[in-house]
Amino acid sequence: MTERICYACGATAAAPATRCDCGEPLWLASEPPDFDWNAVVDAPGMWRHAELLPFDSPGGVADAAGGTPLLRLPRLDEFAGARFHLKNEGSNPTGSFKDRGSALGVAAALDAGADGVGTVSHGNMAMSTAANAASAGLDCVVLVPDDIPESRIELISQYGPTLLRVRGDYAELYDRSLELGDELEIPFLNSDVPLRVEGQKTTALEICESFAPDVPDAIVLPVSSGGHASGVWKALRELQAAGAIEEVPRLYFAQAAACAPIAEAFAAGDDVVSAVEDGETIAYSIANSDPPSGTRALAAARETGGGVVAVDDDEIRAARRALAEFGGLSVESASATSLAAIRRLAADGELGEGDDVVAVATGRGISESPPASEAASVARVDIDELGERLASR
Ligand SMILES: [Zn+2]
Repeated sequence: MTERICYACGATAAAPATRCDCGEPLWLASEPPDFDWNAVVDAPGMWRHAELLPFDSPGGVADAAGGTPLLRLPRLDEFAGARFHLKNEGSNPTGSFKDRGSALGVAAALDAGADGVGTVSHGNMAMSTAANAASAGLDCVVLVPDDIPESRIELISQYGPTLLRVRGDYAELYDRSLELGDELEIPFLNSDVPLRVEGQKTTALEICESFAPDVPDAIVLPVSSGGHASGVWKALRELQAAGAIEEVPRLYFAQAAACAPIAEAFAAGDDVVSAVEDGETIAYSIANSDPPSGTRALAAARETGGGVVAVDDDEIRAARRALAEFGGLSVESASATSLAAIRRLAADGELGEGDDVVAVATGRGISESPPASEAASVARVDIDELGERLASR
């Protein structure tokens, strides 16, 4: 499934490697593409940019991934302190940007002849992976922490995955699942693996296409694992290498102040992101105390002349209210961190009222419980028994 390369040291590795010997995450290697905006193809959703993607759409629900609207919302300009645009990722089939990476990951799994895919998640990514696998006729293994709410189990299980509630250290599950996935030949589409990052770069391809031949002054998105941030950065690098954009928009990332390892490293001038203590925040879905692509996100912010901002829960609530009252949009708290960060950056003079700024609203939030699927298999398992359980699934 195509060669991988390290953004930091340039070393390459064959699939299915996900990390470089230097410790940093890998992404898919790509030649400087022969691409301009005339090479956009007539295809649904994210597949318009097929020239920059390594796989074609598998069809089905993957065709509904991406192609989300970019909204100009002038009534929010005063609150934001800039010319405000919003990329509405809540329009994806399972309600978040995760569908872009899931769709590409499923396309890759089909291409490789795998009979299933997997993921480790307790939220949007679990639903998205299971939905895309279901549509493609692939098995799906979803590993979740044992203590997630029953309502969340119902949401994920409606797509009929093998859902394992794992007792043990959730952080350890990330690495363990990748090892088991290699052994059992089920690609695990975790938050920042190369295939997921490759799909998630389409968010930025679409934003840049909307502004072409210009670019927005800044793109602002929430950051958790750093996977989406990495994909957006990769897209901008590829577009610049191809000559499709002359200037690169500044990338700013937003974190919740209660759990902000990347923002803290940025503020301290560090080159490497270190783990922090867990903290409680209403933006719980981006509270990642040890982000696997944190250092890569930090590099993305620095190299594009942007930054990383920590916003507190009061600022997030105010932004969420403003999005509803002046934009007519209800988004999850994690998504509202983008607008909260823009308001702060404008107050600090980093963004001006004439700047075109795109906030990425990553998801619409989880709503009503659906009926669970009878095809789903839901079990509890200890982390030590995971290999045996997956092999016999
Ligand atoms: Zn490296």
